[in-house]
This record gives sequence, structure tokens and C-alpha cells, in this order.
Amino acid sequence: MSPLNASDLALASASASDSVSAASASSSSAMQKVTVLGATGSIGEGTFAVLRQHPERFVVHGMAAKGNVDKILPLITEFKPKRVALFDAAAAAQLRERLDSDATLAALHVDVLAGESGVVALSGDGEADIVVGAIVGAAGLPPLLAAIKTGCRICLANKEALVMSGKLFFDLAYQYHSTVVPVDSEHSAIFQCLPPSEQVCMGRCDLAGVGVREILLTGSGGPFRDCPLETLTTVTPQMAINHPVWSMGPKISVDSATMMNKALEFIEARYLFNATPEQVKVIVHPQSVIHSMVSYVDGAVLAQLGQPDMKTPIAHALVYPERITTPVSPLDFTKVSALTFKEPEYKRYPCLFMGIEASKLGQASTTALNAANEVAVAAFLAGRISFLGIAEVVEHVLSKISGSSAYELPEIMAIDNQSRSLASAFIDAK
Ligand code: NAD
Ligand code: MG
Repeated sequence: MSPLNASDLALASASASDSVSAASASSSSAMQKVTVLGATGSIGEGTFAVLRQHPERFVVHGMAAKGNVDKILPLITEFKPKRVALFDAAAAAQLRERLDSDATLAALHVDVLAGESGVVALSGDGEADIVVGAIVGAAGLPPLLAAIKTGCRICLANKEALVMSGKLFFDLAYQYHSTVVPVDSEHSAIFQCLPPSEQVCMGRCDLAGVGVREILLTGSGGPFRDCPLETLTTVTPQMAINHPVWSMGPKISVDSATMMNKALEFIEARYLFNATPEQVKVIVHPQSVIHSMVSYVDGAVLAQLGQPDMKTPIAHALVYPERITTPVSPLDFTKVSALTFKEPEYKRYPCLFMGIEASKLGQASTTALNAANEVAVAAFLAGRISFLGIAEVVEHVLSKISGSSAYELPEIMAIDNQSRSLASAFIDAK
């Protein structure tokens, strides 16, 4: 029943039995090998900040990214991974050259892989105890499925993977005894507010059975939470990526502004915690101090609070059920202003409404929603469509894709491709 794998249990018991010193608890026998997918991004950066504080505990096995050679070179120099995969083949060739032309770097003998197949080969090589899934978008799905099949622990930031394939994802996690721990701050909070019996069965929780009334999924409402609706026509990409609380990559920042991020998180929560649509309620909480809550049938509500800093949920996912230090300072309650909450306005956030409805229809619809949104956000960031145009693209694609269920990866990828073509054609015709 418990999907905790052997290395998790060894790590937990190593620390529990160690009353002598912290140093021996993290001796080389307990050293965990980590592969970071999305190494050059915002979550990747947060992951390395946590790993950097615990060199006695973690060693980096692999790094994967799209193609930013200048950003990955210093990471290679510092963390000395055995393997690096770049999606962009030309960038991978350039990286090989740069590594070979520097005696110190050449001495590391880094194995450089290229293309999607290289990223998948790295994540599925079975060498890592922990794979951090932090590639943005649908591109993160195939490498994550490959990693699950090695039975490693998955620290899951890439919510799009679950939106596309939540059912298959957890079926494979069970089949291969892979532990899945959420990194998304809201889902990390919910995870921490659930009883231990449910924490070890992500994807198969029995919420009603443990007395959960509902999950309260909080969201800041983004930068346009309070502006007059008519001013949304003038939103520029720069305005949209300036999130008031969190510092994140450009795609998720735009998703936060449209609240598509909360729609994706609603779907993510349903798969992670095996929740019905009625068991997840979205609440706007502008201060983002409470990261989400679980409401129980006896009237108790458990919440997880903290600074809006992803290093806390990243560290939690890396070492659960233990705790380790991070560079994040604790909350100073004397400096916390009033905590406020309100219902989301669907008129302001049509993407949130469409996401919740798509989730009721099934995985074909959520895959279409995700693909249409990725194309629309890229077009918005490139100045090709307006901010309000994002929801129009998503609505158009959803109207063309039937809501039947999809399960296997080829079927999911076919719907993803079809939705991208529909979205691109709609944008071209505008
Ligand atoms: P980002 O844009 O900062 O970084 C994305 C990373 O993915 C980069 O390293 C990029 O090189 C890599 N990448 C992109 N396409 C790739 C491809 N085809 N192959 C290999 N690598 C590729 O994004 P981010 O903000 O770090 O978000 C990453 C994921 O984590 C997203 O799914 C996001 O929804 C999720 N997430 C992020 C945050 C946050 O605070 N940033 C919070 C919760 C969840
Ligand atoms: Mg989140």
C-alpha cells in the first residue's frame, strides 16, 4: 500500500536512530543522488539553493534544461553532475565544446546528452534517488514518466504533467513504487495538513475516510486582482509577469495573472489527493501567507503558513518525512498584516472557470486546456495577442475538443498536438 521506497525508509530510519550528531546522520551512505529537470529555471535555482546548504547530504547526478549554456555552465562547475541533457541539440553541441575547451571542466568528464530523447534518457537512467520535475509545460511529461519508471522519489513542480496525465502518472507511480511529493506550494501545504496515512498514498487518498470536508486551495489573485475590469484590455506582458508576491518563471507568472495557474492547480489537487471537484474550493488570499488549508468534518481547519518562497516546499519534498534547513527565514507574525480572503470572480478570471469545468469533463479536456494555454501565453508574451485573448484562445480550443477521457501517453500527446494546431490557427486568423 505504501509507495514510500526503500531509500526513503533508509533515510528516515538513519536520521531517527541518530542521536549522536547531525554529521553522522548524513554520512556518505545516506548521500542522495539528485537529478534536476529544469535546472536553469526558477524552481531549479531554488533547488540548487537548498542543495548548496546540504553538501553532506546530496550529490547532483544530472541536470536537464532547454538550452541556456551560459546559465548551466556555472551550475556544472559548482555541482559537478555526471550527466547534463539539453533539449536544444545545437546548445548541447556548444556545451560540449565549452566543456572540452576548459581543462578544469574537461576533467569532470560530464556526459552531455541532446534533444528530448537525451532529456528522457537522463531522467530515466535509474541513477538518481530523487528527480526534481521542474521543466515548464507539457515538455516535462515524458521525462517525468521515464523517471517514475525507475522507482525514484519525484519532487513534483511541473503541474502541467499531472493536468495532462494524472491517472497514468499515479498508476505508474504505484506500479514502480515511486514516491511523489508535491513541490507546488499549495499542494505542499495541503500534503502537510493531511494525516500521514494519506501522505504516503498520493493519487489514492481517501479524503472522506479520514474526515476531510474540503481542501481550501488559496491563490493571490495575481497582479490584476483589484483593477477595474475594463483596464484588463491594456495589460502588457511586462505588467503580467510582475507578480506582487511570488518570483517565478514568465509562463507561470502570466498563468497567475489569468488565474489559469489556479485552474491547473485545481486539476493537480484533484489528481494528487484523489479529490472530487466538490472537495476542492478555490479562495483568493492576496497576502499568500497561508499556502492552503484542509477543512475537516469536526470543524477544524489545518493551514500551512510560511514566507512565499519556493525553497521551503522544495526542501520538504526533497527530504520528507524529515526537515532540513533552508535559506528561508521564519514568518514574523508581528510583521504580518491582516489576512484576507474572498471568492474568486469568474468574470475577472474566465480561465479559472474553464479549468474547473474541463476537469469535470476529463483528461482530454484538461490536456486541451493546457496546450491551448501554453500556445496562448507564448503568443501573449510575444506581443501577438492581448491579455484577454488568452482566454479566447482557450475557449475556442475547448469548444473543438470533445471531453472524452484520454489515458495512454500517445493518445494524450495527440490531443496536445491537435490543440496546439487549433490554437495556432485561431491566433493566426485573428
Ligand atoms: P522557468 O521558466 O523559470 O524554468 C523552466 C525550466 O524548464 C528551465 O530550466 C528551462 O530550460 C526548462 N525547459 C523548458 N523547456 C524544456 C524542454 N523542452 N526540455 C528541457 N527543459 C526545458 O519555470 P519555473 O517557474 O521554474 O517553473 C517550472 C515548473 O514548476 C512549471 O511547471 C511551473 O508551473 C512549476 N511551478 C513553479 C513555481 C515557481 O514559483 N516558479 C511554483 C510552483 C510550480
Ligand atoms: Mg502554486
